[in-house]
This record gives sequence, structure tokens and C-alpha cells, in this order.
Amino acid sequence: MDRLPIFIRLTDKACLMVGGGIVAERKTRLLQRTGASITVLAPSITVGLQALVDQGQVQHEPHHYNTLFINDFYLLVAATDDAALNRRVAADADAAGRMCNVVDDNEASSFILPAIVDRSPVIVAIGTEGNAPVLAQQLKAQIEAWIPERVGQLATQAGRWRSLVKKRFDTLRERRRFWQRFFSGPIAQHLLAGRQVAAEKAMRAELVGDATAKADSAGEAWIVGAGPGDPGLVTLRAQQLIGRADIVLYDRLVSKPVLDFARKEADFISVGKRAGAQAMSQDEINTLLVDLVRQGKRVCRLKGGDPFVFGRGGEEVKALADAGLQFQIVPGISAAIACAAYAGIPLTLRGVSASVTLATATLDSDIDPDWSRLLNSGDTLALYMGVSSVAKISTQLLRNDVSPQLPVAFVENGTTQDQRTVLTTVGEMDEAARSNAIQSPSIIYIGESVAAAKDLQWFEGQSRAEKYSQLIDGEFVAVASM
Ligand code: SAH
Repeated sequence: MDRLPIFIRLTDKACLMVGGGIVAERKTRLLQRTGASITVLAPSITVGLQALVDQGQVQHEPHHYNTLFINDFYLLVAATDDAALNRRVAADADAAGRMCNVVDDNEASSFILPAIVDRSPVIVAIGTEGNAPVLAQQLKAQIEAWIPERVGQLATQAGRWRSLVKKRFDTLRERRRFWQRFFSGPIAQHLLAGRQVAAEKAMRAELVGDATAKADSAGEAWIVGAGPGDPGLVTLRAQQLIGRADIVLYDRLVSKPVLDFARKEADFISVGKRAGAQAMSQDEINTLLVDLVRQGKRVCRLKGGDPFVFGRGGEEVKALADAGLQFQIVPGISAAIACAAYAGIPLTLRGVSASVTLATATLDSDIDPDWSRLLNSGDTLALYMGVSSVAKISTQLLRNDVSPQLPVAFVENGTTQDQRTVLTTVGEMDEAARSNAIQSPSIIYIGESVAAAKDLQWFEGQSRAEKYSQLIDGEFVAVASM
């Protein structure tokens, strides 16, 4: 490490920007965020800088650089397009004991400006000591995505409560313990979810032992869509909540790399298929969920795809609501949407398909869907859980005057490395499913726009490395176990 990252207070400090071009403007705007008193030294300046000058936010000295300027300033940035002049500014600053940054010149700079994630008052600075600014930018984007949106509010609120906590706990050790609990517990959760009143109530309970309020600081359930399989298709919100859960309750269809977003200490309960045993019934799952939340746990209920699309999320949320418990719901990319994209099937297509129906052949075994309505002409039908009923589906469609030539696609294990697409027609779908041994999980697409998949396939031909390259470069290396 040859540079120490430090956070300097620049409020009202005199700072000199040498140069008036677009780069100088960008750096000026950055410095401005700190409330620095900025002077721009340049014979001419950009329209943007001029606007700042006109608004009285920045001073302008319309001159060429001159050593005499240095002494009046606390900190300098040399941002002209003349590298030699920039270096002269840096040398003069150094001689005068002033700090100077030279844009794009690590060597000449006494300080460099890092890439910044600004969730004030939480600031993350990323530097590469000038080696790889683009890498710093990419890391910044990843950290932006990873840090909760309201982390700034969380820090601000913690700051406000510091003195209260200090009064309540005498020793440093107790206080540290308290804050450790605080930031990984329900009060922080309330703040991150924007529930200020609930947070304050729970905090009062913590500090003064108010038992009625304490009940409110109990657990919480997050009903989270885990997407169709590819961990790159998990939402940021889902990723954050999985990473905060005490317990992850997951379905069979949730892929391993998605579970890897959880903390190492988290407990995992598979409700889809317990080792050697039967899957839990929906009632058992509802009861378990309610019990765990009542025990004060933060439970992430992870469901394949979207929780509200054939996911029985509605029933679980109702059980939580009836029990008066706290919950959040996070949507996921549902299999019909995801598999269509990964198989090149436009669900709607101008002039071909104007609507999409998401349906299932087997939701209630004793109620048959109304096939005559399910597939109007110009519709794309996406059927979930249909693999075991292909013969019935085909017969019913034909009986309802659907053309035997109407295109059909099976997309099996969509978005995973095992994805397989089989294109056929309504007349031949049963034979095609059997000869290709189509397995669950698969989506069955029926409609004219399905034919486009012949020309739009892109995912299945790719090598494994190409499919997941963005994941391998990034943080989802565990995808290998998918
Ligand atoms: N809530 C889920 C659906 C659960 S029902 C969602 O929104 O996607 C289970 C059915 O979803 C499976 O029978 C299958 O039809 C479909 N499915 C889920 N994951 C799939 C995948 N990766 N590829 C193809 N179909 C999938």
C-alpha cells in the first residue's frame, strides 16, 4: 500500500481547480459535494462550469496558471489537457506543501481520487493505486449493487442513537455487543426497509425494556423469488435478504448457487424434499414459517421463479398476515418469462402474438382448465407443470379446434447449463415429449410466435464458460456446482 485512504473534511476549504474543460467540470462537481470553496483557474471554462459560477457556487479566475495562486489554497487538482503544465502545478504544490491531484497521472499526484460509492454518510472508496481505474469502476458497480439502498439512513440513525446507547451501557464491550446485535438484528432491518416508526419502537424496547414494544422487534419472513435457476437472474433485493437470513426455507427448484448467497451461519431447511423423506405439506410449511418467525428468526422463504406464480406464496403470506407477523415479498423472474428469453421465444410478437397466458395443466387435479378459452388465436400459452399431462393437453387442444400445425416448444431445465429446447407441433407434441424423454421442470409453450425460436436460439449452443462468463468473472464462482 503506497497510499493511505483518508477522508478529508473539505467544507469551506479553499480548493483550486486548474483547468476549465470537461474533466475539470467533473472533478469540480465531485469536490462540490463536500462543500469545498472552489476556484476554477482557466482562461475559458465549459458551459456547465459557467453555470456554477453564475449561480455563485464556484469562483472563476479567468487566467493562465501562475505559481502565485498556489499559496491561497489548501488542496489543488490539475485538470488541464497539458500534461507538462499539470506536472508543473503538482511540483509547485509539492514545494509549497500543498496536496495536489493530477488527473490521469498517478505518478505526479500526491493524492488520487478513488472511485466512490456514496450512500452518505456511508462512503466506500476504491483505489487501484493508478493501476486499473476501469477495474475500480467495475468493483464500484458491484459494491453499489451489494450495499443496501438505505444503508446511509441506517448509519445516520445509529449516529443519532449513539449517546443513548452510551448512557445505557457502561462498558465499551457491552456497547460493542449491542451494536453488533443492532446491525444484524430486526431494528436494522426495519430501518433498511424504511420502517422508521417500527425501528424506533423496537429501539425503545431494547433500551428501556418496554416489553409490549419488544414483541414487535420479533422475527420477520421474507417471501423471496429465487428465479428460474441461473443465479445471475436473482434480483439484488433477493440477494441481500438471502444474505441476511437466520434461516433459509427453500424449495426443491432453488439452485445451489442461489443458496450460496446465504451467510455461513444460516440454517437451511429444504421443504421440497427432505433427505429420504416426503416433501412437507403446504400446511406444515405455513406452520413452520409462522413458528420460526414467532421465535424471532429472520426467515427467508426462497421459492423457485416468482412466489406468486404457481408458487403458493399467497397461502404462506396469508398465514403470516393472519398471525400478525411482519413480512416482505420479493418478486422473482418466473420460469415462463425466463425460459422464453433463454430459448429465444418472444412471448408477444408484433403481428403474431398479442397476449400471453400463464397457466397450468395440473393445478387442481379435479378441475380441468377451460381449453377452449386458454388458447385464443394469436395467444402464446405457457404451461407450467405440464410434463406429465402432455397427451391430455394435446388431445384437449385438438378437440377444441386448435390447428395440429400450431408450434409447440418444451424448454426443460431452462436457464441452467442443462437447458434443452424441443420444437414440435400440437399434433406431434405427445410423441415428441416421449421420444425426447422430456422431464420436469419444463415449460410448454404453445402458439405461432414459438416458431421464432428456430432462428433466435442463443443459449444452448454456447459453451459453459460463455454462458456463465459474467458469473465466473464476478462473484458467482460457485456456479460450477449448478
Ligand atoms: N413459482 C415458479 C413456478 C413453480 S411451479 C415460477 O414462477 O417459475 C413448478 C413449475 O415451474 C415446473 O413444473 C416447471 O413447469 C416450471 N419451472 C420452474 N423452473 C423451471 C426451469 N428452470 N425450467 C423449466 N421450467 C421450470
